[in-house]
Amino acid sequence: MIKIPIANPSIDKKEALSAYNVIKKGWISMGKEVLKLEKKIQKYIGIKHAILFNNGTSALHAALAYHGVKEGDEVIVPTLSYISSANVILYCGAKPVFCEVDPITFNVTAENIIKKISKKTKAIITVDLKGMPVDYDDLKKKLKKYKIPLISDSAEAFGAVYKKKKVGSQFDMHSFSFFANKNMTMGEGGLVTTNNKKMAEVCRIIRNQGQEGRYNHTFIGNNYRPTDYAAAIGLEQLKKIENVLNKKGEIAKIYNKAFSNEKFIKTPHVPSYVTRHTWYMYCIKFSKKISRKKIQKILHSNGIDTRLSFPPIHLQPIYKKIFGYKKGDFPVSEQIFEQFLDIPCWMGMGKKNINYIIKIIKSAVNN
Ligand SMILES: *Cc1c(COP(=O)(O)O)cnc(C)c1O
Repeated sequence: MIKIPIANPSIDKKEALSAYNVIKKGWISMGKEVLKLEKKIQKYIGIKHAILFNNGTSALHAALAYHGVKEGDEVIVPTLSYISSANVILYCGAKPVFCEVDPITFNVTAENIIKKISKKTKAIITVDLKGMPVDYDDLKKKLKKYKIPLISDSAEAFGAVYKKKKVGSQFDMHSFSFFANKNMTMGEGGLVTTNNKKMAEVCRIIRNQGQEGRYNHTFIGNNYRPTDYAAAIGLEQLKKIENVLNKKGEIAKIYNKAFSNEKFIKTPHVPSYVTRHTWYMYCIKFSKKISRKKIQKILHSNGIDTRLSFPPIHLQPIYKKIFGYKKGDFPVSEQIFEQFLDIPCWMGMGKKNINYIIKIIKSAVNN
C-alpha cells in the first residue's frame, strides 16, 4: 500500500551529528550556536537583526509585546490563520479583532483591515498564509496615515521572496516558525527579524525573562530561549532551505499545470508581487458541486494523506466561548476553509508519487 504523508521534513544524519557535537561540548542551553545561526540568517534574509526563539508563537508574542500592547487595546488579525496569531494578543491582555481575507489570495488586504480600525487599535498582525507573502507595499501605503505598527506573522514564509527581496524586512517586524512541519525546522524554533536596533534589543530582553544585565529585570519577559542543540539542527537546515524551496516550487508547477484544465478544481492564485511562494502547503479548491469529504476519503483510501487547512480562529470553541462568535460571522474565511484541501508537496516526493496523486485526484473529481 502506498503511503504519502502530507509533509516530510528533510532531516538526516547531518542534523543528528551536529546536535550531538553540541551536546558533547556540554553547553546545551542558549549560547554560541544560537548566535551563529542568527548571523547566518541575517545574511540569508539580508536584514540587520535576527533573534532566535524557542518557537514561532513566542517570537510573535515578543514582537507584539515590544509595542506595549495591553488590556483595553485591540489588535487586528485575520481569522483565517493558525491560532497563535490571535492567542499572542490575548497573552498581552488585549482583544483580537478579526478581519476577513481576500477570497482569491486568502491573505488580508488593506481594505479588510481598515474596516476594523478603531481608536483602540494598537497593532495589526498580517499573515503570509501557506507561505505566500501579503502585498506589503500596498498595505504600508494604504495604512500609513493610521500610524499603527504592522507586524507580519511570516511563520510559513521563511525563504519567501516579495518583489525580488526575501521576506523579513518589509514590515518593521516579522516573526517566523521553525516547527517540525515548516520548510526549515529546529523541531521547535522561532525567529524575529527587524532592521530596527531598539526593537531587536527589546526582543532579546523579552526572550530572556526581561533581563538586562545579570539579574536586572527591566521588562516582564518570559523564558523564550532556544537551545544550542536546536540551533545546531537549524544551521544544517539553513544549508538545505534553498533546495527545499526550489523542489517544492517545481512540484507546485507540476500540480498547477496538471489541474489547469479541470473544471472542478482551482489551483492557488499567485500574484505578480510574489517572486517566490514557499508552498508550506499546496492547497486546491473544489467547486461547490464536489463533496470535499468524499474526495478526501478516496485519497486516504489510496494512501494519500491530506489536511483541511486551519479552521477560522473565530470558530474555535474557546473563542466562541469567550467572544460569542458564531458560524456566518466571517463568511469568506469560512468558505475558504470549507472548499479547500491541502495535498502533499514536499522535497523528495518523486515524480512517481506526484503523478499518482494527480491521477487519483483527477479520477475522484470526475467520477
Ligand atoms: C506555525 C505557525 C505559527 C506558530 O509557530 P510555532 O512554532 O508552532 O509556535 C504561527 N502562525 C502561523 C501562521 C503558523 O503557521
